[in-house]
Amino acid sequence: MSYLSAFAEFLGRKEIDEIRFLGDALRGSLVQHMNSTPTGGGVAEILARLTPMMNEVGLNAQWTVMEAGVEFFEVTKALHNALHGEPVQLTSQMKSLFFAGAQKNFDKVTADADFVILHDPQPLPLIRGRSSHRGKWVWRCHIDLTKANRGVWNVLRPLVERADGAIFHMPEYAKDLSIPQYIIPPAIDPFSEKNREMSKGEVEKKLSDLGISTLKPIILQVSRFDRLKDPLGVIRAYEIVKRSFDCQLILAGGGAADDPEGQSYYQEVCRKAEGIPDLHLLNLPPNSDVEINALQRAATVVVQKSLREGFGLTVTEAMWKGKPVVGGNVGGIRRQIIEGITGFLVESPEGAAFRIRLLLAHPDLRQKMGEMAREFVQQNFLMAHYLKNWLLALQGLKHQEKAVVHFDALT
Ligand code: UDP
Repeated sequence: MSYLSAFAEFLGRKEIDEIRFLGDALRGSLVQHMNSTPTGGGVAEILARLTPMMNEVGLNAQWTVMEAGVEFFEVTKALHNALHGEPVQLTSQMKSLFFAGAQKNFDKVTADADFVILHDPQPLPLIRGRSSHRGKWVWRCHIDLTKANRGVWNVLRPLVERADGAIFHMPEYAKDLSIPQYIIPPAIDPFSEKNREMSKGEVEKKLSDLGISTLKPIILQVSRFDRLKDPLGVIRAYEIVKRSFDCQLILAGGGAADDPEGQSYYQEVCRKAEGIPDLHLLNLPPNSDVEINALQRAATVVVQKSLREGFGLTVTEAMWKGKPVVGGNVGGIRRQIIEGITGFLVESPEGAAFRIRLLLAHPDLRQKMGEMAREFVQQNFLMAHYLKNWLLALQGLKHQEKAVVHFDALT
């Protein structure tokens, strides 16, 4: 059975046939995705699944990772934080590093690509060379731009407007741009190592390999070690919960090649965690997919107490595993958690502690909420939905100059 066909179990056969029809209409199109890290973080997670699925329906999709030095990534991490609303001052030296670092990757852009998709700000300056390429160019933004730092956005905006289209996760992230904008929420692959079903025995074996006992209820947050994921807030919430429940906290995460702040922030979290009973800090190597799968399945309550969040695939992953999620009331977490139905949205460590306690005390509520959460993911955030949305967006871009596009006679 083909990979896409397996999704019929969740979306129905008709929907899969429709996706194949849309793929056929783009058969042979060369689609090049460019981003800045091969592992760690949501963008890499998505591209690892989307690229083969685009190929399966007939496109010629490629995924290219930029190469750059640490100075470039320091600047782009500052840009990332600024787009999330941090007060970052972009100096002319930072701007030069950004433009020059990206430009060094220009020879990686496939000259005859039909679509060049630039993910997030890192590869965006490459668009200045688009006139020597015939294809359509797209900016795919994975960041919540609602509070974007004005100075930084003013630098990026002219680049974005050179594209043929921009794609955002949520309507709220769209900007006042001169180019068409598309809204596509991210998705997960239920058959990947990170999300596939696992037996209870396999979960327990993985946890024991990680040195974790399953005897006490587990509160879990999986995230890159990043201030905006608020692990310190999670620790604070755990300390409150621990006064009334004998539970344990696992903070699991790792780094990403394009995030140079990760390791020093991890040290800060280590210092904060010192001496707190039953707190496990797991600094995982790249590709720890099975470990993350097992941790999410073993968790009693999953937390994602982000202060900013583009979407939050870790929320989707936990919901898919039937877990109630206590998430920060920000960005894409709000798209996933329906308050009181698929999880709880919180504003503070105290609020998180209150909801975690409620869930620890009520197994029936956990069960019901987890079922609703899985159902919501099944209907909205699986990779086949994502592929379909992409194919529709590419069709829109391909026929952009036409006043009317006939979807029953696509060429
Ligand atoms: N992830 C991982 N290893 C880690 C930390 C995170 O594989 O140590 C994965 C996580 O399971 C999820 C993605 O990276 O699939 C994180 O995506 P999300 O949208 O939650 O956040 P981002 O890191 O992109 O801000």
